[in-house]
Amino acid sequence: ERLYSVGRWGGGYFEIGENGNLHVTPDLDNKDIRIDFKAVLEEIKEEGIQLPVVVRFHDILRSQVEKLNETFRRTMNDAEYGAQYMGVYPVKVNQMREVVEEIVDAGKPFNYGLEAGSKAELITALAYNTNEDSLTVLNGYKDEEFMRLALLARKLGRKVIVVIEKFSELLLLVKIAKELDIQPIVGLRSKMTVKGRGKWEGSGGDRAKFGLTISEIIKAARYLESEGMGDTFKLLHFHIGSQLTDIRAVKEAINEGARIYAELYRMGFKLDYVDVGGGLGIDYDGSKSTNDSSRNYSMEEYVADVVFGMKEVCDLEDVPVPNLVSESGRAITAHHSCVVTQIVGEIRANSAEIDTKEEDDEHILVSNMRDLALGVDQQDNLQEIFNDASQWKEQAIDAFKLRVVTLEELAKIETLYWQIMVKLRHRTRDAEFVPEEMQELEYTLSSQYLCNFSVFQSAADTWAIDQVLPVVPITRMNERPTVNCSLVDITCDSDGKIDQFVIENGVSDVLPMHPLRSGEEYYLGLFLTGAYQDVMGDMHNLFGRLNEVHIFSYDDDPQDFYIEEVVPGSSVENVLSIMQYHPSSMAQTVKRMIDRKVSEGIMNPREGVKWTDFYEQCLAGYTYLKQK
Ligand code: PLP
Repeated sequence: ERLYSVGRWGGGYFEIGENGNLHVTPDLDNKDIRIDFKAVLEEIKEEGIQLPVVVRFHDILRSQVEKLNETFRRTMNDAEYGAQYMGVYPVKVNQMREVVEEIVDAGKPFNYGLEAGSKAELITALAYNTNEDSLTVLNGYKDEEFMRLALLARKLGRKVIVVIEKFSELLLLVKIAKELDIQPIVGLRSKMTVKGRGKWEGSGGDRAKFGLTISEIIKAARYLESEGMGDTFKLLHFHIGSQLTDIRAVKEAINEGARIYAELYRMGFKLDYVDVGGGLGIDYDGSKSTNDSSRNYSMEEYVADVVFGMKEVCDLEDVPVPNLVSESGRAITAHHSCVVTQIVGEIRANSAEIDTKEEDDEHILVSNMRDLALGVDQQDNLQEIFNDASQWKEQAIDAFKLRVVTLEELAKIETLYWQIMVKLRHRTRDAEFVPEEMQELEYTLSSQYLCNFSVFQSAADTWAIDQVLPVVPITRMNERPTVNCSLVDITCDSDGKIDQFVIENGVSDVLPMHPLRSGEEYYLGLFLTGAYQDVMGDMHNLFGRLNEVHIFSYDDDPQDFYIEEVVPGSSVENVLSIMQYHPSSMAQTVKRMIDRKVSEGIMNPREGVKWTDFYEQCLAGYTYLKQK
């Protein structure tokens, strides 16, 4: 448990069972529900679903929606906060229909709404957020069609708030609202001076992409007033970045936002809502620190700082507190889904050893290297051994190019070199001081487990922004992991790898895993992929979307679960069609080529039919490696 830090990043949803398998407790309010992940995998196999697969635990989504809303309610109660929490889920964080449906359903008792940042998301929100009491908040840049859709929603009696990101949008909204004679609800997004800390800190500060400066906010509010629409200005919005790592940034932003709200209120703009945006972070590496992949606060502390921070300023300024809106997406969705796949091979620098026995008239570099290898354990100056071995290996390559060393001698030198490095690593493990160059030996000598998935499809942020995501074997966690590994994917791209792992005392470039056993699958899970990763991936190398299973638990049998839905991933045909190919005419072309070979007698007709069927099967098949 400690080695993989499951308890630290798992948010209470994951733990290692006594049988060494990962267990899922998908409902924070009912810890009796406990699903053995291995049983889920067995069911997936029984249903004939190929890996890699996205496994969604819908109860986790539900649980997170409830946790956020209940935490706000409880904290507001404690603070005697005289208004409500009206949260919205930002669709962009995971737009999958089943995810949005589950969140909307779980959020009904709390009037939890949706946030949309584009026309397509607004069209989605219009059809899915049907609760008249919940909010739909519209961010992002907007055109005339966007405004018309928003006004249609107003006509349908929905609380849709158009958040103005730049001044010209307001002119457009006012024009169309007057033309259609529909009263909008307007929000103004403030460009904050406070900057978040972390990977998304550019969302705040003077160079922020979105929002109005203070003078633009005043100008916008006065413009609405001059058009007789001052009372449509109902919401002040700000968002200083996703994955805020340091709670101090949250406190500062609330303070700044609350001051702007209070001043506007006193200027006569009696707003109903302050929207504090997203940013509530996830502890991906379990360190509870201000690392980019962590955060130094809990959801409870975040909510307390928002609620008490707002109340304090409002009390001081003697204005009523506003209803609070927040747009947490990462915190709602990250835990609910993971990618499960299997290891399909091992790559090791020193994997192919050859016999290094002495030969008459062998090259001196071979003899030198052999003597060095035999003497490693007797010598104290490890750096000198390292330097000699490295230098001789380089010399051997040059000598080979000059036809002085043979291919077999070079292979012997390579084998002996790696034997020396393994011995050196062994000796440096207990050493008090390890010279810099030799510190890398652990990584250089580690295995690369070849994993049946694509980083670009399933974990885009690990490649794009060095996001750390927890990786854990699904089984065998009661066995000592003896192989230090990094992961490589099956794309033809050397960037397709994961070499940052969450371990006991931080983040490491290798993860201790178990030796592969022949004839037995070794399953790995990539966790916390429910936010952004699920939907941002691309089809590099034409690896398409993954098969998906949706897991629900039974209330009356806490150890049991059922797969409610299987969403098939992309077939080869699907991905080819997206790239403008015509799979059926491709199949015809290949069939014609096969028929020609049959007519030339190079294949018999039965073989021809078999090969034709095989090509068609592959077209209809999954894009990932097929395991037995
Ligand atoms: N709201 C806005 C305007 C955003 O830009 C974002 C993401 O950056 C979010 C909400 C969601 O933020 P998070 O996923 O950190 O909760």
